Amino acid sequence: MILYCKISTICFYWRTYIKFENYISDLFQYNRLMPSKCILILLDGLGDRAYVNLGGKTPLQAAETPNLDRLARLGGNGLFHGKRQGLALPSENAHFALFGYRQEEFPGRGILEALGAGIPVRPDDVAFLAHFVSVAEKNNTLILRKDRPKATTEEIDQILKGITIHKADGLKVYFVQTHGLDGVVLMKGGASPHVTDSDPLQEGMPFIEIQPLDSNREDLKAQTTSRILKEFLRDCYSRLKCHQVNLKRQMEKKFPINALATHRPGRLKKVDHFYQRWGLRGLSISSGLIFWGLSTFLGIEFLKQHDSLDPDKDLADRIRLALSNVRDFDFIHVHTKTPDSAAHTKNPRLKRDVIESLDRGLGSVLNTLLEDPELLLVITSDHSTPSAGPLIHSGEPVPITIVGQGIRRDDVERFDEINCAGGALGFVTGSDFMPMILDFLDRAKLRGLMDTPEDQAYWPGHRTPFSLE
Ligand SMILES: [Zn+2]
Repeated sequence: MILYCKISTICFYWRTYIKFENYISDLFQYNRLMPSKCILILLDGLGDRAYVNLGGKTPLQAAETPNLDRLARLGGNGLFHGKRQGLALPSENAHFALFGYRQEEFPGRGILEALGAGIPVRPDDVAFLAHFVSVAEKNNTLILRKDRPKATTEEIDQILKGITIHKADGLKVYFVQTHGLDGVVLMKGGASPHVTDSDPLQEGMPFIEIQPLDSNREDLKAQTTSRILKEFLRDCYSRLKCHQVNLKRQMEKKFPINALATHRPGRLKKVDHFYQRWGLRGLSISSGLIFWGLSTFLGIEFLKQHDSLDPDKDLADRIRLALSNVRDFDFIHVHTKTPDSAAHTKNPRLKRDVIESLDRGLGSVLNTLLEDPELLLVITSDHSTPSAGPLIHSGEPVPITIVGQGIRRDDVERFDEINCAGGALGFVTGSDFMPMILDFLDRAKLRGLMDTPEDQAYWPGHRTPFSLE
């Protein structure tokens, strides 16, 4: 009897142990099923249109991209647009949407550029994106003749000394250089960002009158801002047109650097930081003030990169940097501007070649990327940039591929705008993107659960333990 009791006790503990083992094993399997970290490789301005000189294909379709195609075969594919088809988005708005923020939360490009350059700004400051141009007077207006005329550092320094701070009606306006002929016009004292641009963006076109936006036409602040900004720009022009640097340049048959063009003003807004909103520690590995400014604004850490003449090496180095930071961050944005820059030269073949070079860069680190079962890999772009025609960016969606354990796979064999359209992810918009990432990382909250007083998107939240007191 005693022996029987002992055996049954041992059996009981053994069965309990086995159950526990199975539970641990299930938990282990469960933990291993989906990835826990996301690396987003963003090829800026990748999407494009079809060109006769590429045999009716887009630059991405025409490019030899064995590594991107390998990812397409390994993962789920679809199309992405930050907002909706047809809407031409700049990188900052498309990234803003991609990072899961709404358009009404967007503070404006000018202020992001200022943040990216480390220029101190206060909540009521307005920053306009600005750069020097060459203009000519015609019929009582200014015609844009040359955007950012070539100039030496000494000439630029002299030009900067030639313009002054303008003060009127309690507002103070001045230019702050960020690099070369670029910078921001800062307006302090309670200005409004709701005014039109002065930059026509197209050479041969007249400068645009600065006036309040229709939505703020009756707003006194917007009216004053328009008037004072116009006074400042007119003052810059009158000082620069007879500046000694420009008199010399005109003798040398060079374009004078005689006006400041402004556009896309902005002012700080309050938004919750990326970690607060998505529960993920974010890192951006990118070049360009706008990405550093956007990261600063959204509380995403960033590692400043600088572009060399070797886009494939730059991309490979950035991906390696992402891999070395994957322990400390949950969502890493790896960015390259090169497809967008190539498209802006309006040469589809150059863009195709740049894409091929990026594919080689990706290829040199792809096996390492695919080795880690904890990694969710996303390859996409922010917007389309047409390699021909007058548009700066265009509204067609871009391909997106997602690779990782547990991700549904489809039959798509090539990473491009056409093949990815037939993939399992379907059409992904900016508002879908971060919830989709949370889902693939097993961090999506079941709707209705309230583990924190705030209805956060991610799960589990930062819970307060039940107190017996
Ligand atoms: Zn662009």
